[in-house]
Amino acid sequence: MNEMFFYCQDCNGKINLDQLALLDQGKCPICGSNYGFSSSPKGEHDQFEGAVVLNDTDFLQ
Ligand SMILES: [Zn+2]
Repeated sequence: MNEMFFYCQDCNGKINLDQLALLDQGKCPICGSNYGFSSSPKGEHDQFEGAVVLNDTDFLQ
């Protein structure tokens, strides 16, 4: 089973799909903001800045 997670775009807290469905007016259960959620963690691109970049073929091997 491939569970999906979503990340608060304010505090970057991780919730699962069940929790997302139960949100009170879209507010984060952790920090209470309504910035919204994304399937990618906030700042993911910053995190990889300067790191080795893998392209798609690397993952297919
Ligand atoms: Zn939050």
